[in-house]
Amino acid sequence: MMEQALASNGIAPSGPAGSQHAFVTLVTNADYAMGATALARSIRITGTKADIVVLHTGGVDQSALTPLAEFRCRLVPTDLLPLSNAFNERHARKSIHSAAPFTKGRKPDFHSPLDNFCKLRLWQLTAYDRCIFIDADTLVLKNIDRYFGYPEFSAAPNVYESLADFHRLNSGVFVATPSPQTFEAMLTQLDRPDAFWPRTDQTFLQNFFPDWHGLPVTMNMLQYVWFNMPALWDWPSIGVLHYQYEKPWEKDHPKAESLRPLINLWHAFFSGENIPDIAGLPNPGLANTN
Ligand code: UDP
Ligand code: MN
Repeated sequence: MMEQALASNGIAPSGPAGSQHAFVTLVTNADYAMGATALARSIRITGTKADIVVLHTGGVDQSALTPLAEFRCRLVPTDLLPLSNAFNERHARKSIHSAAPFTKGRKPDFHSPLDNFCKLRLWQLTAYDRCIFIDADTLVLKNIDRYFGYPEFSAAPNVYESLADFHRLNSGVFVATPSPQTFEAMLTQLDRPDAFWPRTDQTFLQNFFPDWHGLPVTMNMLQYVWFNMPALWDWPSIGVLHYQYEKPWEKDHPKAESLRPLINLWHAFFSGENIPDIAGLPNPGLANTN
């Protein structure tokens, strides 16, 4: 396992970086470590030469991280952000769920909203020129290296229900440039008295980068598009498939029946067995008739 070398402003994985570019994800418990395992396998299959960095907190047992070694992930131990108690209380799971309830989908019990903010530690990874952050509940389905050339801050729209959401970003995938200065500026702006970020890092990043650059919607294809906007689904063009709300490794969940083909795909990447040819997968609507 990789050890950390922690600088005051930057986090450096030990050993030389293999590349100027890194895919970065975050895991704060064993559930998301499963997600990262499927994600890391999917990234390696794309043939990228970029590093894969997994930021992990003390909430994850070493044994849950062991499978990541197979995919040459650089494991970087870290802590949740140093935020005020008042901030932490405002963004605790029960506070978020009552002040800004989720009406469109359900979050698993193992999801702690406060942990999302730890994504901002990407800006401390100063060994890299450019990073692509990817949530642990995703799969990369084709080579997406060209997006390392996109500017900070690039993200895809948060579209899974209607066109009205095209002006909002989804923070499950974004392109950014590590910088201790940016990291410090973010912490200052994040934890202001009474600051409340209802969708956590996502609301914050949209606010911090009001003139964000657009990634194609196919760079963060949200699973609900499958049943809400099937006309948008096109397997060959999907770079990143994102299982927002319910997770594919949950034993059962309310949307499992309608998402079955996507859940099966995730399990293939998790186990490494029978990973299908993506371009040959049936589109929504056709999927249930075959
Ligand atoms: N995350 C984590 N532990 C948590 C919550 C979030 O490790 O308790 C990380 C993980 O990488 C996850 C991301 O933050 O993919 C964002 O959370 P999630 O994907 O569950 O949110 P959604 O995409 O459903 O909005
Ligand atoms: Mn996610």
